[in-house]
Amino acid sequence: MSTALIVKAAQFAAEKHRNQRRKDVDASPYINHPLALASVLAVEGGVETPEVICAALLHDIIEDTDTTVEELTALFGDRITGIVLEVTDDKSLDKAVRKEEQVRHAPHISPEAKLVKLADKICNLRDILASPPADWGAGRKSDYFDWANRVVTGLRGEHAALEAVFDSLYKRQSELL
Ligand code: ZN
Repeated sequence: MSTALIVKAAQFAAEKHRNQRRKDVDASPYINHPLALASVLAVEGGVETPEVICAALLHDIIEDTDTTVEELTALFGDRITGIVLEVTDDKSLDKAVRKEEQVRHAPHISPEAKLVKLADKICNLRDILASPPADWGAGRKSDYFDWANRVVTGLRGEHAALEAVFDSLYKRQSELL
């Protein structure tokens, strides 16, 4: 059952994100990003909770596609939908406020949501180091690193090995200059 659920989440995410691209120079398919989170958790982190892997695959689906909470709940149930909602920004707020809200919320979300959020920040730092958004200068990249580190401060205590992965990426901040 859990294998089927994970495949179903990957397929649903691929379908919903099918017309979106990442902001890197190559404009990579958006689905690469949720797949990267799932890989960080399952392959690098050894996380074996299917709901966490599914939530990673679906983590941007409410924020960035037309998917509704009702649709997600009907397909994946309350637990996965709950984790996704915990890592979904309130888009009615302005961007700077949303970023501060992430810092403020991080310590209060569930352990499952903390893992998804930690994987998201790991993937984003990796992307900025390896294939940054075409129009981002050094200052903006560096600001992102510092903000991500503040969010991760509130996520600590769930997975030491993945926190160490984040820390080693954060230390590479000087490469951005
Ligand atoms: Zn993400």
